[in-house]
Amino acid sequence: MIVIDEKRIFQEIGEKNPASVSLNGPDGILPQVQETAKNITKKFNIPAYVLADTTWGTCDLNSNGSKVLGAEIQFNIGHTINTETYEKNLILIDAYDDVEFDSVAKKCADMLKGKIISLVTDSQHLHQVDKVEKILTDNGITVKIGKGKGQLNDGQVFGCEFYPATDLKKEVDAYVFLGQSNFHASGIALSTNLPTYVLDPYFNEVREVTDFAQKLKKKATLAIYKAAEAKSFGVIVGLKEGQLSKVFALKIKEELEAEGKEVQLFALTDITNDRLRNLKGIDAFIQVACPRISTDNQFDKPVLSSPQANALLKILRNESIDGYLEIPHWL
Ligand code: SF4
Repeated sequence: MIVIDEKRIFQEIGEKNPASVSLNGPDGILPQVQETAKNITKKFNIPAYVLADTTWGTCDLNSNGSKVLGAEIQFNIGHTINTETYEKNLILIDAYDDVEFDSVAKKCADMLKGKIISLVTDSQHLHQVDKVEKILTDNGITVKIGKGKGQLNDGQVFGCEFYPATDLKKEVDAYVFLGQSNFHASGIALSTNLPTYVLDPYFNEVREVTDFAQKLKKKATLAIYKAAEAKSFGVIVGLKEGQLSKVFALKIKEELEAEGKEVQLFALTDITNDRLRNLKGIDAFIQVACPRISTDNQFDKPVLSSPQANALLKILRNESIDGYLEIPHWL
């Protein structure tokens, strides 16, 4: 069950006495965010708006929604990172999953006995890393935890940022991801090219995501080769506050034009196949917002992410694209 740090929220409201607040969190924890909003109104008798648009990461906080509402404090819940505040009125609140990994960790130990593995996870399960490390170590596995970097804590990964995993690539046989997220685990497999397992405490199963990750890579590579045949490109800048990457967009535009391609610039908040269908005269797109939009979704036309766009330029220049996703940060 997801547990939100309501104590911290109540303390902040008690000290700052806001007229209204807003709350948001990833889709998976929205029911708990709703409960917390109700608890705030019950305790302080102030409006507590649940910002129910997506918030995929600290790159996508929707602070503008909070500003438009005039909420004096915005609580963004569930994106534990190694930095405290962004906007003045924005407070990042921890949420953790209290599910135990004991049983599934023992299963994992039986499967991977004698191996050297690295433990990785997302923010909701970071507090379990030490406990699982001990269970695995006691049962014959050598465990390494990669160092955090930037916003990442030790052992933590985002969907596009993998420093604690990639740093240990030469020292381990495999990665073990704590939680249920094939999304995060497949990113680790792609950025390291090593076997990666999900330790899922809810289904009490250890599943390998290496093949799934290879399928994502095949699809991503096919899109690059299709895009190489395109004459006209749309380069899309993402309008989410932490995904704005105009400099890279303009650089890609310039480099594609140098290769004889036509390029038009676009800007979008949500980059979906439906929105792109409205845009005419474009053979392929490059979006420089969230790389996982390209690797994890289906589009009618090629829609490349930043690392795919770099690979495309290499193809156009007859260079090798080997290992184009094997980098610690896809932006
Ligand atoms: S994968 Fe996308 S949503 Fe997640 S942190 Fe990276 S850019 Fe943000």
